[in-house]
Amino acid sequence: MQLFEKLIDHARAVRLVLENAPRLPVARVPLVEARGLALAEDLRARFDSPPFDNSAVDGYAVRSADAAEAGRTFEVVDEAPAGRPAQKSVGEGQAIKIFTGGVMPEGADAIVMVENTSGWGERFELKKAAEKGQNVRRSGADVREGERILRSGTEIGAPEIALAATQGYGELPVYRRPKVVVLSTGSELVEPGAGELSPGEIFDSNSFALISQALETGAHARRVSALSDDAGVLRAAVEEALSTADVVVTSGGVSVGEKDLVKGSLLDLGVDQIFWGIKLKPGKPVFFGTREDARFFGLPGNPVSAMVCFELFVRPALMAMMGKRDKRRPRVEVRFDSDVENSFGRMHAMRVTLKRTQEGWKAESVGAQGSGLVSSLTKADALALIGPESKGVKAGESVEAIVLREEVLFS
Ligand code: AMP
Ligand code: MG
Repeated sequence: MQLFEKLIDHARAVRLVLENAPRLPVARVPLVEARGLALAEDLRARFDSPPFDNSAVDGYAVRSADAAEAGRTFEVVDEAPAGRPAQKSVGEGQAIKIFTGGVMPEGADAIVMVENTSGWGERFELKKAAEKGQNVRRSGADVREGERILRSGTEIGAPEIALAATQGYGELPVYRRPKVVVLSTGSELVEPGAGELSPGEIFDSNSFALISQALETGAHARRVSALSDDAGVLRAAVEEALSTADVVVTSGGVSVGEKDLVKGSLLDLGVDQIFWGIKLKPGKPVFFGTREDARFFGLPGNPVSAMVCFELFVRPALMAMMGKRDKRRPRVEVRFDSDVENSFGRMHAMRVTLKRTQEGWKAESVGAQGSGLVSSLTKADALALIGPESKGVKAGESVEAIVLREEVLFS
């Protein structure tokens, strides 16, 4: 079994991942399916919007020259509800009943709200003078034909979907979602819900955690039931995954134990190793490689390591492939109340809680940092990045932290 070559540092590993995570091809998807994805081309207005002058209120369309003073009585000659333009035009002393969104009738240049008249009827008395253009929504007031209305790269949310819809776009060009396959490895693993554990067995939690993390980025993801530590089984499952997925994520079997067969299987399958081994705790044995358009991440089996390494490496790759900026993972400067040691010689991605204070964000360890302690991640607000070269961080000195729960920023 091969031992680690020189470990690379965290920042270099992230760089290598991003260099090998080009944006995925453009897909045209129905409006709502574009939600959360990045627009892959500029979007231009096909026509002036609104497409015609129309009423902002319910009332009467009149000639402003007739409505310069209150008191005049108007004759109502037609009506213009939304979607059905009036047949007649407005002459002197005349009005057309109109509702919000109704097309501005010929001859009229102002709209008086019904509240400023004697009310609905065949005729009405004007109670308040009206000015030219009053309550008229001009064609092109929102956007102009040919204007760029959305920039390539914009992340699509409800307002962008609304704007595209006003222009009649039924589909949007986006960078498509990556297809992710998640595989757990380990002969000790049992599917949760499938009965009792025999001695030495544990339930597979990693594949559930990792698929959830993948889905959270917006990727498509599926999981495969845990694989035993058998080279043939592994190779077959990984080959199947590599030939169908954009990104394959495994957990376990990637370190230097005799049962750690993942890396060997990958190399047999023609995966090019980009790196194996990071100066990071948790997550030293992470493997990253590529085969044609597929990317492969071999994450450690310890549940905290697997989840933390997904955060640090897989998530940025998936985001980059979708052309997205990771707005939901802010980084903040944090300080500790007392000295924190780092004797690992690797960067420590430490699970911490965050508290807002007068002096900025205070971080505190969630407690024991063992990489098998699944409950510790349920308590963590952030990962404080300590080291690797330093022996730790002194009380009051600041370090960077990746915020995992953005809600804490609003606390
Ligand atoms: P490994 O990296 O395969 O040596 O696994 C390291 C530790 O993580 C061992 O204690 C494994 O039992 C545990 N482990 C590996 N895979 C999983 C998994 N899918 N779910 C929960 N624990 C796991
Ligand atoms: Mg294992």
